[in-house]
Amino acid sequence: MEELFEEPSTKFVELLLPVPIPKLFTYRVPHALQDHVQVGQRAIVQFGDRKILTGVIATVHQLPPKDYEAKYVLELLDDFPVVIDQQFRLFYWIAEYYLCTLGEVLNASLPSGLKLSSESMVQLNPSFNYDESTLEFSEKETILLKRLQSESLDYSAISKLLGVKNLFSILKSLVRKEAILLYEEVKEKYRPKTEKKIRLTSPNTNAKKLEELFKTLASKPKQEAILLRYLQEVPVLNDTSANILGISKKKLLTEDISESSLVTLIKHNILEEFEVVVSRFDTTEKETGISSQLTPEQLHAQREIIESFVTHPVTLLQGITGSGKTEIYISLIKQALEGGSQVLYLLPEIALTTQIVHRLKKVFGSSMGVYHSKFSDNERVEVWNGVLHGKFRFVVGVRSSIFLPFDNLGLIIVDEEHDPSYKQQEPAPRYHARDVAIMMGQMHHAKVLLGSATPSLETYYQAQQSKYGFVRLNTRFGEAQLPAVQLADMGQERKQKTIKGEFSGMLLKKIDEALSRKEQVIIFQNRRGYSPMVNCEDCGWVPTCVNCAVSLTYHQFRSALVCHYCGYKEALPTQCPVCTSTRLKTVGYGTEKLEEELTLHFPNAIVQRMDLDTTRSKAGYENIIEQFERGETNILVGTQMVTKGLDFDHVSLVGIFNADRMIHFPDFRSYERAYQLITQVSGRAGRKSKPGTVVIQTSSPDHPLLITILKTNIEEFYQSQIKDRQQHDYPPFTRLIEITVKHTDKKLCRTSADLLTRLLQTHLQGVRILGPAEPMISKIRNQYLMNILIKIPRGKSDLGAIKAAIQNTILQLTKEKEYRSLRVVVDVDPM
Ligand code: ADP
Ligand code: ZN
Ligand code: ZN
Repeated sequence: MEELFEEPSTKFVELLLPVPIPKLFTYRVPHALQDHVQVGQRAIVQFGDRKILTGVIATVHQLPPKDYEAKYVLELLDDFPVVIDQQFRLFYWIAEYYLCTLGEVLNASLPSGLKLSSESMVQLNPSFNYDESTLEFSEKETILLKRLQSESLDYSAISKLLGVKNLFSILKSLVRKEAILLYEEVKEKYRPKTEKKIRLTSPNTNAKKLEELFKTLASKPKQEAILLRYLQEVPVLNDTSANILGISKKKLLTEDISESSLVTLIKHNILEEFEVVVSRFDTTEKETGISSQLTPEQLHAQREIIESFVTHPVTLLQGITGSGKTEIYISLIKQALEGGSQVLYLLPEIALTTQIVHRLKKVFGSSMGVYHSKFSDNERVEVWNGVLHGKFRFVVGVRSSIFLPFDNLGLIIVDEEHDPSYKQQEPAPRYHARDVAIMMGQMHHAKVLLGSATPSLETYYQAQQSKYGFVRLNTRFGEAQLPAVQLADMGQERKQKTIKGEFSGMLLKKIDEALSRKEQVIIFQNRRGYSPMVNCEDCGWVPTCVNCAVSLTYHQFRSALVCHYCGYKEALPTQCPVCTSTRLKTVGYGTEKLEEELTLHFPNAIVQRMDLDTTRSKAGYENIIEQFERGETNILVGTQMVTKGLDFDHVSLVGIFNADRMIHFPDFRSYERAYQLITQVSGRAGRKSKPGTVVIQTSSPDHPLLITILKTNIEEFYQSQIKDRQQHDYPPFTRLIEITVKHTDKKLCRTSADLLTRLLQTHLQGVRILGPAEPMISKIRNQYLMNILIKIPRGKSDLGAIKAAIQNTILQLTKEKEYRSLRVVVDVDPM
């Protein structure tokens, strides 16, 4: 009956909402908004009884839903689309390929600053100068702005403060006037980076006044020096307006200028201090627009890439560490930008590669956007809008930058394409940014360059099969040579009693030599903490996590046992809770223990540690890297963080611990991963003129993988791995889908995993189903886990149909009352 009363022109929208329900949602557009509604705009709606959410309009139509009455759209947030056609196509593809909902894709893509919801927090925009005298703001807006000056508020607090239910028009208006910012979680609050600056107080900027000043300061040479230096740096005499910008305090305070004299000048109202907001990636470097001249080898590789792109839109550049891949990228990026298209440069983790960002900033300056996981949400909104409005035609970013609103990509670079951090593990979408980038390349007709010294086996195979183009660069830039690799035979040394603590005599000797030549050392151990296990010497008791099936790692600096899976912490007991023995010993070693031993062995050396514990903040990374760059640190000990893209001039020695554990890790990728990690960290040695050395400590010096590494024969390694993968049905010869069943009840977890396996067996044809099996860590955060692995032969099967069948089977199971509380996670192409 409803429909009869519907006006014929009533519009409805299908909304993509950030919820894990696999469908779009129909809402009705109020009359006043009918003429403004467009696909790609954000709309605010009520969802369920209490929730307010921001959705994105996927379609506009005039068909009312059949079996219920559609709720109204409350407000449109945009005048133009913020999600564009190309993104929709990509979102649909990701949801389908990675077996997740569109809502999950939307949630991962939109920065929370674009998702106004009933959970939003509101703060004053730090760069907004509130001036009460303007008439720009309504009465309610003014009340809110005043209050926000002292604190951030959440949605319900604002609702109470203003006494209105529907806040959207007010919030929307204030966002437009750039007076407020939205954020989702308390930790995300935007804290702009500021810089202290100095300038003359305004009465002192004219020439006559300055002359007088110098007369009075004649007897105070220190203060006079400051003023002179200021006038040298800031041309106030030629141009009074130059004074407004002043000079950074840091720059003014050089060695011969004392801070106390500056304080005096400020006290006497001659100079003043003020603060400005600076971009987090603003470096002191000047944009030059000039890049390095490529070497003949680099030029050759570049020409080969351009030629390869003609026939192979996806091309692999396999260039050894230090060969200058970044220089080639820069040159290609310039060309693509000059050709008028957009460029995306993907990096696995930006914080670890601030060096590269600095290099790029020098060439591309402020036309380059940086999209970063450690940025606050509002900075991400800036980049999003910058891409949308053409301010940033070039973005360098981490995996989530594939979601940005590009409409005209010409080139995508995936640097260190082998890096596992391109894969998102949790939450859905569990996508691999390299693979999504290849898909995006197809959609945009863009070229995709995959770069690495140690490509993933999958990529290498595609290149070898000529599915991808293949360009090699096998010489290092300049005089630099690849380092010589040596094995420290731990079995032998144990017999000869030359091991001290965890260090082989060989490595200790080399460190000593390097330090005496004033060269730097990197020590790589892929485990943080002091020791991964504590053990009672009398009864064998091992402290384990209360929430997970893992032993607790001992951290000395916190003097606590910590779970690396859920963060659970407890104090180290003084005696064994089982047998009351006090003989508790630590087993194994992490970065913290190596750091301690190094300071004992080399008391005059400055040792720094770089791992998750010392780099919680972005400044943490940067400080450690910068100190090492400036030579203030002699030895850097760290986890895989030290393997990534760092370029230091004075490192002549790299020591690698626990190679055996990496090699014997029970996973079909363990050789590949060990090979990549060892080669990458070795690549940090001898990057300029000094030759480098790498020492690998091992108890199995005859292991074939180590022998390949010694020979630096990459071809041989890949060939043997490819054969292995083919024999055992692993990627790239088979596609994998991993299903994890999770439940707090162990028995239910097992029985439902059994049942699901049986259901899959009846519903799926032409695939192999392995399991269910308990994963290596069978309980995490109080959830018991069971894994089912599906192997799909490549090329022979209808992947779409298989995926649909998997999804339906899971749905069929979880619809049953008994299994409703089950969590089933599907991971396509697991890593
Ligand atoms: P990769 O990314 O292949 O490891 P990089 O691009 O980081 O190599 O180059 C290694 C070092 O050599 C860097 O310090 C870089 O500045 C320098 N370099 C490489 N090519 C050139 C060039 N053509 N001109 C000047 N410096 C170069
Ligand atoms: Zn005991
Ligand atoms: Zn735990």
